[in-house]
Amino acid sequence: QIPVITIDGPTASGKGTVAHRVADKLGFHYLDSGALYRLTALSALRRDTDLADEHALAKLAEHLQCSFQGEHILLGHEDVSDAIRAEVVGNTASKIATFPAVRHALVGLQLGFRKAPGVVADGRDMGSVIFPHAPLKVFLTASVAARAERRYKQLIGKGISAKMEDLLMDLQARDDRDTNRAIAPLVPAEGAHVLETSNLTADEAVEQVLKWYAA
Ligand code: C5P
Repeated sequence: QIPVITIDGPTASGKGTVAHRVADKLGFHYLDSGALYRLTALSALRRDTDLADEHALAKLAEHLQCSFQGEHILLGHEDVSDAIRAEVVGNTASKIATFPAVRHALVGLQLGFRKAPGVVADGRDMGSVIFPHAPLKVFLTASVAARAERRYKQLIGKGISAKMEDLLMDLQARDDRDTNRAIAPLVPAEGAHVLETSNLTADEAVEQVLKWYAA
């Protein structure tokens, strides 16, 4: 059995950083499932696909030509690592992620990341839907204020201007959509350890996850 650690949580809960570091420490692969929704969203925006056309969006998802090379994410031959992080792409991703056909189209791609010696899977439904039998499931939470501040620092660090007010509103809207959608709503998976990270550093959160894994 190839081990899987699932790390789910809301936007900007720190799961990307934590999942990445846990994967590095264990020498595991890393699945950024949010990137797959973002790639689908970016393709849709670029092709002017009708964002209400579930069937067309699912087709895009099913035929995504993407590859992950270290820190770089390619769509076809183009490096879109930065492009998929734009707020508009994240928002579009969370809208199209409410379509069952889109989610279904991305299942196979996600399961393909389960390779030896193991994988750390980061997302919303990794523990509840994609890898329900994972030996370790973690659900990261943090207050909206803490998450907005993290997102703010991230954006400013990249030289992207941001307004705290807008970020708070955007986070809340995305939380609402992710939590209240009919399919794969954002809730801790059965058997998940819940880790509140508002007052933890990334290293402390990583340490806790590794402790759970070793237990
Ligand atoms: O995690 P990230 O912000 O990159 O994800 C973008 C959007 O994709 C989320 O807001 C969420 O709606 C959706 N998503 C999802 N299921 C996942 C990962 C992401 O629905 N496993």
